[in-house]
Amino acid sequence: MGPLPGDYSPIPEDSQAEEMTVEEAETTQELQFSSFTAKDFRRIKVLGRGSFGKVLLVEYLPANIYCAIKVLKKDNIDSTDDIEHILTEKQIGQLVNPHSFIVDLYATFSTKNQLFFIMEFVAGGSLRTHLMRSKHFDLQTTKFYAACITLGLEGIHSKDVIHRDLKPGNLLMDQDGYIKIADFGMSKTGIGYGDRTNTMVGSPAYMAPEVVMEEEYSRAVDWWALGVIVYEMLLGTRPFTGYDRDFIYDSIVEDEPHYPSSLDSAAVSFISQVSSAELSVYYNH
Ligand code: ADP
Ligand code: MG
Repeated sequence: MGPLPGDYSPIPEDSQAEEMTVEEAETTQELQFSSFTAKDFRRIKVLGRGSFGKVLLVEYLPANIYCAIKVLKKDNIDSTDDIEHILTEKQIGQLVNPHSFIVDLYATFSTKNQLFFIMEFVAGGSLRTHLMRSKHFDLQTTKFYAACITLGLEGIHSKDVIHRDLKPGNLLMDQDGYIKIADFGMSKTGIGYGDRTNTMVGSPAYMAPEVVMEEEYSRAVDWWALGVIVYEMLLGTRPFTGYDRDFIYDSIVEDEPHYPSSLDSAAVSFISQVSSAELSVYYNH
């Protein structure tokens, strides 16, 4: 577990800031990973909400630096599977870092009722927010973001990790406009070159056909998701849509994406190659 870096430029404090509800810093043996306690952090605002809990912007008081902290309520964690899942997210966060294009996980700690993931604060919001605001991006901007994601993915795959939930909501923009990959909640370790797994996980619109069809799949599913994201960045719509999850799955398995004639031919070539099922069959990565 690396030390918290001290080179953050402080951001202005939110005038609406309220104190974090400090849990009694009583810890449980198995989930205590460090000497942090909730009292070391001052809550500034909510950055996002996810499946298990919320992500807050906080100040780490001993060093006056800003961090993002993912708070998971133990009440919401009711099965051994959930615990396994959270421990995997922690393990993977530390395995793939440090990396310029991956959100850093500094440390984890727990109190009687909550688990905390202390992360690097990525100040620019998610790619999803930017995409919703701009509708779509021009070719240059898309190329730049795609390059950032590619470098992040390379880093993840080099550690034999498959991300499995690459989508604009899990891509965060930093204060200089670079993209960092976040959220290892659906990731899996031990998937090296040529290795395969078969659990059906991910977010429907970004899932590769082999995942939807419940076949064995390789790390190529992350490249498929990159193709979907590049399409969405250029056109503002997703290639595979439907009224509900099942219609989306049908479209992924059966439809060829529609490429408008205005779309740059190199972009079409990139999307179709990166998302090609052949890639997973012949290259396996
Ligand atoms: P979940 O696993 O529940 O989807 P995420 O890790 O994706 O949780 O976080 C949910 C949201 O919180 C993100 O979409 C983003 O808006 C925000 N967020 C998460 N991590 C950070 C971070 N390190 N810095 C800034 N915002 C973050
Ligand atoms: Mg997420």
